[in-house]
Amino acid sequence: MSEVQQHEFQAEVKQLLDIVIHSLYTDKEIFVRELISNASDALEKMRLQQLKGEPVFDENLPLEINVTTDDTAKTITIADYGIGLTREELVENLGTIAKSGTKGFLQALKESGDSADVIGQFGVGFYSAFMVADKVEVLTHSWRPDADHLRWESDGATGYSIEETEGQRRGAKLIVHLKEEFAEFATSSRIKGIIEKYSNFVGFPVNLNGERVNTVEAIWLKSKSDVSEEEYKDFYKFIGHDHQDPRYTLHFSADAPLVINSILFVPDDNMERMGFGQTAPGVGLYCKKVLIDAAPEKLLPEWMRFVKGVIDSEDLPLNISRESMQDSALVKKLGDVMTKRFLKFLEKEAKADEEKYAEFYKRFSRFLKEGVVQSYEHQESLASLLRFESTMTEPGKTTTFAEYIDRMKDGQDEIYYLVAPTREAIETGPYLEAFKKRGLEVCFFLESVDDYVLETLGQYKEKKLVAADRADIELDDVAEEGESLSEESTKSLVDWMTKTLSEKVDRVDAGKRLVSHPLVALTPKDAPNAHMRAMMKAMGEDAPEVKARLEINPRHSLIKKLSGFQTKKPELAEKVAKQLADNALLAAGLSDNPGKVVSGMSDLVEELMSSES
Ligand code: ADP
Repeated sequence: MSEVQQHEFQAEVKQLLDIVIHSLYTDKEIFVRELISNASDALEKMRLQQLKGEPVFDENLPLEINVTTDDTAKTITIADYGIGLTREELVENLGTIAKSGTKGFLQALKESGDSADVIGQFGVGFYSAFMVADKVEVLTHSWRPDADHLRWESDGATGYSIEETEGQRRGAKLIVHLKEEFAEFATSSRIKGIIEKYSNFVGFPVNLNGERVNTVEAIWLKSKSDVSEEEYKDFYKFIGHDHQDPRYTLHFSADAPLVINSILFVPDDNMERMGFGQTAPGVGLYCKKVLIDAAPEKLLPEWMRFVKGVIDSEDLPLNISRESMQDSALVKKLGDVMTKRFLKFLEKEAKADEEKYAEFYKRFSRFLKEGVVQSYEHQESLASLLRFESTMTEPGKTTTFAEYIDRMKDGQDEIYYLVAPTREAIETGPYLEAFKKRGLEVCFFLESVDDYVLETLGQYKEKKLVAADRADIELDDVAEEGESLSEESTKSLVDWMTKTLSEKVDRVDAGKRLVSHPLVALTPKDAPNAHMRAMMKAMGEDAPEVKARLEINPRHSLIKKLSGFQTKKPELAEKVAKQLADNALLAAGLSDNPGKVVSGMSDLVEELMSSES
C-alpha cells in the first residue's frame, strides 16, 4: 500500500473549523442534513454525468444514499454512489475553501459576533461533521475509471491525511467517529427523526440501516388541496436551507401554453440585506421530477434571485444540457410565464393584506426596483408594486402610482416626485411648496437608487414621471400671496443677478414656485441631478458640469432687501447674491465644495455683524 500523505488545512478552513467546533450552537444535529445534502449533490452530478454517455466506474450502482449507525463503535456512516472524489478533488474540496460565498460567510461571522444564528441559517457543509466527531474518514472512488481508491482522514484540528486503499465503490462514504458526548447520533431512532425532519425531500432514496426513510415526494406535482401548510413549510425549509417559515408561497400549475408545475417561495428575510453578497438563483428547474439545474442563471430574471422554489415542465427535453438551456426559447418562455405569474401573485397579496405586504416590501423592495431597471417587459407590473409616501399620505402610510392617478387633478398629466433621504428633508426643502400651493400631489422617494429607478421607468400608465426639482416644469398661475417687488425692480434684479452670478449659474429668473423660500436652484432638463451625479462619481465617471437655473421669489423679504441693496450697497449686495446662490446650489446637491459654501457664509455673517456694531 502506498504511503500516507499529510496535508495542512488552508487558513480559512482552520478558522471555519474553529468556529464550527467551538460555537455555542446547540443544534448539532444539522450535520446529518449537511452530509446528506452533499451526498445528494454528488448523486445529482452523477446523474448528469451519466447523460453524457462517457465510461463510468461502477456503472450500474443505484443512485441512492445509505446511512448506517453503529452504537458500539459510536459511528455514523453516510455513503453515496455519487461522483466521488479524486485525490486532487479531496485536496481541493475538503482542504480549502474556494467558494467566495463561504469566505463571505466567515467575514459576516466575524462582524456579527453571533455565530450561532449565522451557522443555523447557512449550512457549513462538510465541516459541520466536526461539531460532533473527533475523527472523520472519507473513503472514495471517483466516477472516473482511472481514479484511485482513496482514504482521507482528519481530526478537524490542523490537517488531514490521504492514502490509497482498495475495494472502494464509486462515490463517497463518510465515517463519522463520534465524540463520547455525542454518541446519541449513533442510534438509529435519533437519526431517523433527523432525516425525516430535514431530508424528507431529498430527490434520491435515503436508506437508514437498510430501510428507506424519505418519501421523495414531488409535492409540486400534487394538487393544492392535497398539500398541507406544514408540507409547504417543510419543503421550503429543505430547498431554501432556511429555518424560518416562508413569507409567501405560490403553488402554480398550468397546462397551456406550457405544462408547468411549480412552487415559488419568498423567504422570511433578504440575505443580501444582511451583508451576505449576491444571492444565487434559488429556483431549481425540473423536468418530470428530475432536476435539470438547481440554480439556473437564465430561467428567471436576475432580480428574482431572492425567490426560492421549483419549476417543473414536462415540455423540456430531459437531456437538455445546462449550456443549451441558457439559450433555449422554451426556457425563456417558461421564465416569462413564471415571472408574470409571480408578479400577479404579489399584486394580489398586496391588496389582500397590506400590512403583510409592507413587511415584505421593507425587506425586498430593492429587488423590485432592480427589476424596474432590468426587466423592461415587466416594468409596469413592477412599478405597480412600488410603495411610497406622498404629500397626500400621513407619515408612515404609503400609496401607489395607481392611487396617485386616481387622485390627479383635472388637466394634470404628469406624476411628480422628489427624492431625498427623509420625508422631512423634502417637506422643509424649497421644491415642494409650489406643488402644494397648487394642490398637486408629489411622491416621496427616500432611497438614493430611486432617482435612477424612476428616471429609467420614465412613465406609468402613460403618465410621465417628473422630478419636481427640474427647471422645465410648467406650473399654472395661482394667486400670489404677499406683496411682490415691482415688475421693473424684479427685472433689474434678475438681470443684475444673471450677470453677477454668470460663473455659477446658467441664468436667474423670477418664478412663481416659491412661497417661503427666497430662491431655489433647479436642475436643467436632461442634466444628471444630484443623486445621479453622486452615483456617477461612485462608479468612477466624471459627472458633466451642470449649470443650474436659479429661481428667485420676488415676494420674499430677503429678495426685496437685496433689490434695495443692489443700488444702495452694491458691494455687499454682490456678496449676498453670491452666497445665496452658493447656498441654493448646495441645497440642490450641485455644489462641489460644501465646506467653502459654509465658510463663505461665516465670513459674510461676520462682516454684517461688524458693520452693525
Ligand atoms: P458545499 O457543499 O457547500 O460546496 P462542503 O464543505 O459541504 O461545501 O463541501 C465542499 C465540496 O466537497 C463540495 O462542493 C463537493 O465538491 C465536495 N464534496 C462534499 N461531499 C461530497 C460527496 N459526498 N461526494 C463528492 N464530493 C463531495
